[in-house]
Amino acid sequence: PAQRIIGHEKNLWVEYSALAIRHQAVNLGQGFPDFPPPQFLKDAWSEAVDIPSAHWYTRGQGYPRLVTALSDLYSPEFGRTINPMSEIMTSVGAYESLYAALTAFTDPGDEVILIEPHFDSYSVVVEVCGGKPVYVPLKPEGDPRNANNWVLDKAEFEGAFNSKTKLLMVNTPHNPIGKLFSAEEMEFIARTCEKHNVLIISDEVYERCVFPGHVHHRIATVPGAWDRTITVGSAGKSFSMTGYKLGWAIGPQELISKLQTVHQTAVYSAPTILQEVIARCVEREIQMKGHGDAYHTQLPQIMKDGCSQIMAACQDAGLDVVEPFGGYFILVDTSPLGLEFDTSQVEYDIQCVHWLTEHKKLAGIPLSLFFGKNKHISEKYIRLCFAKSEGTLKTGGDIIRDIT
Ligand code: PMP
Ligand code: GLN
Repeated sequence: PAQRIIGHEKNLWVEYSALAIRHQAVNLGQGFPDFPPPQFLKDAWSEAVDIPSAHWYTRGQGYPRLVTALSDLYSPEFGRTINPMSEIMTSVGAYESLYAALTAFTDPGDEVILIEPHFDSYSVVVEVCGGKPVYVPLKPEGDPRNANNWVLDKAEFEGAFNSKTKLLMVNTPHNPIGKLFSAEEMEFIARTCEKHNVLIISDEVYERCVFPGHVHHRIATVPGAWDRTITVGSAGKSFSMTGYKLGWAIGPQELISKLQTVHQTAVYSAPTILQEVIARCVEREIQMKGHGDAYHTQLPQIMKDGCSQIMAACQDAGLDVVEPFGGYFILVDTSPLGLEFDTSQVEYDIQCVHWLTEHKKLAGIPLSLFFGKNKHISEKYIRLCFAKSEGTLKTGGDIIRDIT
């Protein structure tokens, strides 16, 4: 194999999904809703299947009906007119947009700032490009049981920038903490990037999973930040069907055109029929905006309810959690379980997840796997996914209550 992929053979999702299956555990590990598609989605598929051109190749940078719908959806949210043909690219999942953005701008020797814990693919792609991930942690300031108390140390963050810094990755709502970056935090991050002339990739795949009463702040809307920012979204996350693997990148033509160079060579286009289906769903959201039947009106409450059930189970079991305000995940402090492991070789949380999966039939994800440098912060936390069906939440909750 080429040198660039050596050392990256292992994949967290492959490993932990196999572990859950092997032990027939209730899977609160990998982040995927396990409920059936809502009726409007099934209707969109039935209608799309009768459109002959939906079965053909389409425009590589994005199916016209979908990019138009995305422009209509996002323009008011970004407070600017987003050009559907030049400022949006659709991709195979948000993964591909992230991959295209990181590879389009990372040269060997470039430094990329990753706020950790971070979604695992970021650091791998940076390293495959020959870049250097530079890790800056979110640390609890005050009560760690509130996700929004996990913050950057401003001086430490600024200190991570130098003349080699090319890019910064930001993720809000945050996987795995469930933090929503505030307007003030976004402003600070954007200003720092401006000062050092650094590009920003903002992974906002959980943008529609912000709990009721909370606000999603987009870094691209900080005055002056649009020109240096690529915002990434996901149909899988926006419509709770992660198997769809359709994503998009939004930003100035100057930046999106560079992602397109990667995309047109790697996959050329995302599947046409899927883009037709999602275009219909996005159009429906625009028409029903603010209405109780709009999916994006319902989703925040669905996520919050799932979260509340897992939180209640943890509370009953005497386990502290980091209360999230959006996304699919909750961090649980497993210290009260009183488990003893030899941690000279393998982190506590990794052994704890293996133990829980094998002995309690409950699968989660160790927090330390989201860290490149500051693993000590992860301590005894594991990540559980609450974006699950009633049945899964009930069985998972019962196991948690019974755990100690
Ligand atoms: N970013 C984050 C933070 C994620 O959790 C995920 C997980 N799916 C992705 C990107 C990838 O999204 P997609 O499934 O649309 O490729
Ligand atoms: N985004 C999902 C998570 O964080 C999983 C991604 C994957 O399975 N590759 O759990």
